[in-house]
Amino acid sequence: GTSIDAVEATVVVLENYPLFNAGKGAVFTNKGTHEMDASIMDGKTLEAGAVSGISNVQNPVALARVIKEKSGHVFLCGTEAETFAKLMNLPFQPDDYFYEEGRYKQWQEVKDSDGYQLDHTVNSGEGKKFGTVGAVALDIHGNIAAATSTGGMTNKRFGRVGDSPMIGAGTYANNSTCAISCTGHGEYFIRAVVAYDISCLMEYKGLTLKQACDYVVKDKLVKFGGEGGLIAIDTAGNIELPFNSEGMYRGYKKGDADAVIKIYED
Ligand code: ASP
Repeated sequence: GTSIDAVEATVVVLENYPLFNAGKGAVFTNKGTHEMDASIMDGKTLEAGAVSGISNVQNPVALARVIKEKSGHVFLCGTEAETFAKLMNLPFQPDDYFYEEGRYKQWQEVKDSDGYQLDHTVNSGEGKKFGTVGAVALDIHGNIAAATSTGGMTNKRFGRVGDSPMIGAGTYANNSTCAISCTGHGEYFIRAVVAYDISCLMEYKGLTLKQACDYVVKDKLVKFGGEGGLIAIDTAGNIELPFNSEGMYRGYKKGDADAVIKIYED
């Protein structure tokens, strides 16, 4: 198959799984609703699709994919994006489909405060982990792709949108450099234009994927105050999964080798 199909299919599985902060199991907003964001990008064509602030769409990444291919636009938001999803016959779910008890408790703990909370800050106890989901892939044709999906931050207000649906911040793919999907404190990832920054360091400065990832995630973002991480691949099949938080749920599979799954550092 193709890398764009692979990243969409992977993110759909993760969206349908209630333990992640995307699709079913997305965090609660300040109003007790779920507003989801997603994006997808094809490294071969540089075509991209993105959506923010949508409710009741079962798979936001599938909506991002049809936006990329059938809307004539790149980025749609809110109720009009939901109208487009209906036109495209994508599955919708009632509010209670998205309810997950742990997420509800997280929201109860912070809902009377002013602030919003990253997914990890309330429930982690011992660890810091992000719940946004993403996938990057390289296919047999040599093409790479990236996709990201999230419910954003618990107790978010006023239509807040993070980095996940922003091409260049939370998601980017370009066959001449790399494919990236980010997770972390979106306000910082947006301002640091993280995914595109890594691509630019490779394109303009000749850095390897590892050098670019290490510099942006472990040096630049740390100094900037942006906590989180990302998953990255290039067309040579190099894989990087850097993070500056205590942990990041991650996994990869390369050729016939066994799959690798990790949460904390080695
Ligand atoms: N990056 C996401 C956001 O800011 C949150 C996350 O990755 O957990 O919306």
